[in-house]
Amino acid sequence: MRPRKVPLRKCVACQLMMPKRELIRVVRTPSDEVEIDLKGKKAGRGAYLCGKASCFKLARKSKALDRALKLPVGDDIYDSLENQFAAVEDEFLAAKELDQDEA
Ligand SMILES: [Zn+2]
Repeated sequence: MRPRKVPLRKCVACQLMMPKRELIRVVRTPSDEVEIDLKGKKAGRGAYLCGKASCFKLARKSKALDRALKLPVGDDIYDSLENQFAAVEDEFLAAKELDQDEA
């Protein structure tokens, strides 16, 4: 693989800078809904979380997403994000392992 600049983003929970593709994007859509954006293509203001359930829980506890998205994120939204997060976590981790195999 040729060396090239890897875009870095900060996890809103643990504040670590990570390559963009190792983070899960959460987006505030133009209609003010909060959704997980696995492909990183949805329009709106984005916030990034590492693909770990522990960081999601930390973000919930510290209201990091509220601040990053400049929107009050209700408990019900955190609940539904947590479900989405659990659903994509396996897929996300599997994709990461695939990347490492190819590297
Ligand atoms: Zn994190």
